[in-house]
Amino acid sequence: MAAARWTDEEARLRTAICRIGKLSYDRNYIVGADGNISARMADGTILITPTGAMKGFLEPHQVAHVDMTGRAIDDGPKPSSEVGIHLVSYQERPDVKAICHAHPPHAVAMTIAGVDLQMPVIPEIIVTIGGIPTAPFGTPGTSELPETIRDLVRCSDVMMMQNHGSVTLGANLMDAYKKLDMLEHTAKILWLAHVARGGLEPLPEEDVRKMLETRAQLGITTRNTLENRCGLE
Ligand SMILES: [Zn+2]
Repeated sequence: MAAARWTDEEARLRTAICRIGKLSYDRNYIVGADGNISARMADGTILITPTGAMKGFLEPHQVAHVDMTGRAIDDGPKPSSEVGIHLVSYQERPDVKAICHAHPPHAVAMTIAGVDLQMPVIPEIIVTIGGIPTAPFGTPGTSELPETIRDLVRCSDVMMMQNHGSVTLGANLMDAYKKLDMLEHTAKILWLAHVARGGLEPLPEEDVRKMLETRAQLGITTRNTLENRCGLE
């Protein structure tokens, strides 16, 4: 679609997707043609990074535009092959308006090493994101992969896919990116601690309970698996 025909909303979201792609690339959360970024427009259609492109160097006209079944609604670029991850997330979460899928190295390494990212260790993360659940392995590019995250999407804004990458959900693009940023920073700290002490120790339950009370007092309502116990029992 020609730029002149974009609404203000579409132009703004296309530009923001490119910006988040560059940030993710510069921060090493994606390399090569990895990852994909999407945003849901007010009319329910989805703007998503195109297949095969390097997301660090995207231009607004290269972003694909699809409906909720993943079909292109214009003659522009083809959507990412991992569009299913985004569609499942938007289906399950009407509140979600943007999604980042990336391959943040420390977080992915943790899933390969089998280190539990659900463990409550860092106060700031307990209060905000909560535990970080990991979906079972699904083959990339297949219809099986999106289904591996469907249940987790209902109870967390942040999740890992085993041996593969992250999915972070947000009220807008910067919110989804912020959660990716926090996820990889958390994984890096836990990785360093894991190596330094030969394992991780959760904070005592009593401290976790107090922090979840603080969270309630602060009015933070993101989906937090330590609170809703998703995947923890
Ligand atoms: Zn991926």
